[in-house]
This record gives sequence, structure tokens and C-alpha cells, in this order.
Amino acid sequence: MKNTGHPENSWYVATADIPAYPALTGAHHTDVCIIGGGYTGLGAAIELSRQGIDVTLLDSAQIGSGASGRNGGQIHTGQRIDPEKMESLLSADQARQLWDMSEDAKASLYDLINTHAIDCDLKHGLIHAWHRPAFAQDDRDYAAFVRKYGYDKLSFLSKSEVAQELGTDVYHGGSLDRGGGHLHPLKLVLGLARAASGQGAKLFENSHVTSYRKIAKGIHLHLENGATITCQRLLICGNGYMEGLSEEIDSHVMPINNFILTTEPLDDANGGFGILPHDYAAADSRFVVNYWRKTPDNRLLFGGGENYTPWFPKDIKAFVRNNMLKVYPQFADVKISHAWGGTLAITMSRAPFVRSLAPNVWTAAGYSGQGVVLAPYFGKLLARAVTGDARDIELLSHLPTPAFFGGRALRWPALVAGLSYYALRDRL
Ligand SMILES: Cc1cc2nc3c(=O)[nH]c(=O)nc-3n(C[C@H](O)[C@H](O)[C@H](O)COP(=O)(O)OP(=O)(O)OC[C@H]3O[C@@H](n4cnc5c(N)ncnc54)[C@H](O)[C@@H]3O)c2cc1C
Repeated sequence: MKNTGHPENSWYVATADIPAYPALTGAHHTDVCIIGGGYTGLGAAIELSRQGIDVTLLDSAQIGSGASGRNGGQIHTGQRIDPEKMESLLSADQARQLWDMSEDAKASLYDLINTHAIDCDLKHGLIHAWHRPAFAQDDRDYAAFVRKYGYDKLSFLSKSEVAQELGTDVYHGGSLDRGGGHLHPLKLVLGLARAASGQGAKLFENSHVTSYRKIAKGIHLHLENGATITCQRLLICGNGYMEGLSEEIDSHVMPINNFILTTEPLDDANGGFGILPHDYAAADSRFVVNYWRKTPDNRLLFGGGENYTPWFPKDIKAFVRNNMLKVYPQFADVKISHAWGGTLAITMSRAPFVRSLAPNVWTAAGYSGQGVVLAPYFGKLLARAVTGDARDIELLSHLPTPAFFGGRALRWPALVAGLSYYALRDRL
């Protein structure tokens, strides 16, 4: 679906200073044009402008108003596909390279935050909570596997330790990833925009690109407001919001919606004081993952529930609260202050869809819920491809991301049937 701008009732919007960028009007030329002002597009814009390259970034709505300004802010380790499965899909060598890439992505994120002094409430540590005892073995196998790669930031928590950390006894145990964490995603994306703009990248809002085509002198883009821009190289970074721009992307990448709420500030009176004493983030082992953490003003920020239609539920507060109460039944009387949704993009295999679509046209999308760390980095890799080093993009393009059943036209019904089945299994 098309992005219509920042959600109305988002705690992130209520707690960030959001600058305005102009809309593109008239006819323009630029060296590199980027469609999409989220982490991917801005990651590319920062890298290109750092090298003094003439870069113009266009967003349909406001910069950061897509998934990058709406998400759970959770910092995950690794690629979305775990490394053991990755070894079965590619070679052991390539799986290792992809793991190293994901760790480099994390380091690169922290480097961006430090270099550009982005104040985004960064905290370290993420607990993975097992909603069924069987997930203990999966997690232990994963930890043993990544230890081979030298990753030693995982430790295990008993049922009572998890209960103590999370303030709920509904889980059977879990693991703590000291390499994970959380941050304020909108402050992050706005900080990336400020950095790119400060280095000379030209950023435009309310500049929806309706089509692009190859012409003799490069690539010609047409905008909804009648403006045009030609460029030599194009990066398509619209992720879940770019329906209709490229048939190839649409058939491999599917938008789905996910929802978040925040409560009123927690304290002794409403029974919330003392949950998450170490300020870790948490996510559980469900197929439709519940994820949560505390905000600096002591609210519970809880993400839970998704849908697979072009519409959001009418009452997002009630939709997410239902899932929150399964984890924190003691919060039945706690007021919900904010609730909002966002659209992310998934692929059939959950591997990202990254490739050159045509000469001088590249895309990266479909992070399948793991873009806080990966998307800015994949933007940087797109920028490297633009400047002549396409090795990483080449490796990523080998990841299998088969087209959705039914292609562009019929993928929705097939997806709804498939994902609803797995979501149902969470409830059994
Ligand atoms: C509710 C929710 C919770 C999530 N939680 C997490 C989490 O905790 N951890 C995690 O790692 N990931 C999470 N994700 C996923 C993560 O947010 C995304 O992977 C990441 O933000 C993708 O960044 P992006 O720049 O590729 O896309 P976006 O941030 O969606 O940016 C794409 C931009 O492109 C613009 N655009 C699209 N089409 C056009 C066009 N034709 N012309 C001009 N502009 C266009 C849109 O307006 C949009 O601003 C979550 C996502 C959601 C929605």
C-alpha cells in the first residue's frame, strides 16, 4: 500500500522532533536517485554523499514515515534465516560470509549512531523467551552453531530467571543475547536523514514516484505531482510500500502489517514497576512474534499481531492489547496510550531480496522483520555496488527468494491462507 505519512497515534511520533523536507517539483537531473527514505535508502544516501556523489532521495510521504519510523526498534543478531539453514541453502563458506556480514551490519549501525551523534535511546541485551519447552533445544542448537563462528554473547535463562527478567511467568525459559538490544527507530531514521542531508544528499518528501524507464541518457522517473528526474543510476528502496513500481519486486516481495502499542507509564500503582529491570528487549518464539521493552518514560512498548490484507484493523489498541494480556495478564487495568501499525516486507524464504534488476538499477527489500540492523547496511552495500564494488550484492543475490504463488496478481490470497495457518498454530 502507498505510505500516507507518519501514523496518527504513535509514541515514536509523540517523542521525536520531525523536520520537514521539501517536495520535488519541476524537471531535474542527478547522478544517483534513491526511491525511499527509510533505513535502506538513507544508508545508501549516507555512503554516497560521504564520497561526494550527487545523490537525490525521494519519498512518497515523510522521510522515516515507513516501517523505519514505526517498528519495534529491536536489534537482532544474524540474518533472518539461521546459519545452519543458510549452510543448506548455499555453501558453508557463503553462510559464514553472510553471518560475518550481519555482525558487520551491527558494528556499522553503532558506528553510524556514534559518528553522527544520533540520540536514539540505544540499549543492549535481548531476551528470547520460549513459549513452548521444545524451543529450548532449538535455541541451544543455534547457540552451539554460532559459537563455531566465534559468537559468544548468548547465555541461557531458566524459567524462574526469565520470569524475574520479564515480570511474567508464562514462558518456559529463554536465552539472553548481549549482542541484541533496542532503540527508538524514528529517532534513528531521522538522525540518518540529518547525516545524509548534512553531507550534501538532497532529500525530498511528498514525492511519490509512479514510474521509471530507461532512456538514451540514463533513467527517467516520473512523479505523481508531475515532477520528473533523470539519473544515471537508480536504487529502489521502497520495501513494503512500493507496490506497482516494479513487477519483479512485487512478485518476490510481499507487504504485511504489524502492530504496536504503548501503555501509560508503569509504576507501583498499576502493577508494572519492576518488569524488565535491566531494560532488555524481549521477543518470544511464536510464529507471529510478540516483542516488547520499556520506553525511557517507563511505558511498556508491546508489538503483537499482524494481518495480511491491505487494511489495518479498525481498533489497533484492542487488537494488540489482546496479545499483551496473554503475556502480562496483570495489566488488565493499565491504560493504553498509543497504538499504531506499519507495513514491512517479507519474502517466501525470509531471505532478503537484493539484486541488480537491470543495468544501473538495484534494489534491497524483504528483510522479513529484521531490518533495523540489516537495512541501513544493505543500503550501504547498494551504494558500494553503484560505485563499482558489487561483490556483497552479488553474494546476497544468490539467496533463494522464489516468487510468491500466483505472482503479482494472486499472491495476496495465497499468502493469507499460508500465513494464517502458521498463526493459528501459535494458538494451539
Ligand atoms: C510494526 C513493525 C515492527 C517491526 N519491528 C522490527 C524490529 O523490532 N526489528 C527489526 O529489525 N525490524 C523490524 N521491522 C522491520 C523494519 O522496520 C524494516 O525492515 C525496515 O524499516 C525497512 O526499511 P526500508 O528503508 O527498507 O523500508 P521503509 O522504512 O518502509 O521505507 C520505505 C520508504 O519508501 C517510500 N516509498 C515507497 N514507494 C515509493 C515510491 N514509489 N516513491 C517514493 N517513495 C516511495 C515509503 O514512503 C517509505 O518511507 C518492523 C516493521 C514493522 C512495520
